[in-house]
Amino acid sequence: MKTIESFKVNHDILQKGMYISRIDGDIVTYDIRMKRPNNKENDYLQNAAMHSFEHLFATYARNTKYSDNIIYIGPMGCRTGFYFLVRDKITHSEALNLLKESLEFIKDFEGKIPGTNKIECGNYLEHDLEGAKLVAIDMLEVLKNWTVEKMAYEQ
Ligand SMILES: [Zn+2]
Repeated sequence: MKTIESFKVNHDILQKGMYISRIDGDIVTYDIRMKRPNNKENDYLQNAAMHSFEHLFATYARNTKYSDNIIYIGPMGCRTGFYFLVRDKITHSEALNLLKESLEFIKDFEGKIPGTNKIECGNYLEHDLEGAKLVAIDMLEVLKNWTVEKMAYEQ
């Protein structure tokens, strides 16, 4: 049976980074890997930080010129990263730059997280801006020298 997670990926050797998970028609699914799967340190995204990261990433990306071609941004249930789905009008290198810009936005964000109210959010009290910033800082380092060539999963 096929599962939601990319079944061809060997999670045992995965490193942090941004990868092309699959391409379906004109939709490209990127896996943004932020924590190594099944790591010995038991280091996973914390839910409140992941939730704030989701709000800020989506807010930034949906307010760029790419907005109409962004399909979905959301966390992985295993808390090791995010799914990022875009139309292929956004090139791989533009998607990488958009992610890096989003990380800078999150790192420097001050004030009230957008959408944190009872109307727009399903758990508006569960947020952690400082935690989201730490994730962004870590991923900026991971992606510092990232290239489109590195986006292919090793099989
Ligand atoms: Zn929310």
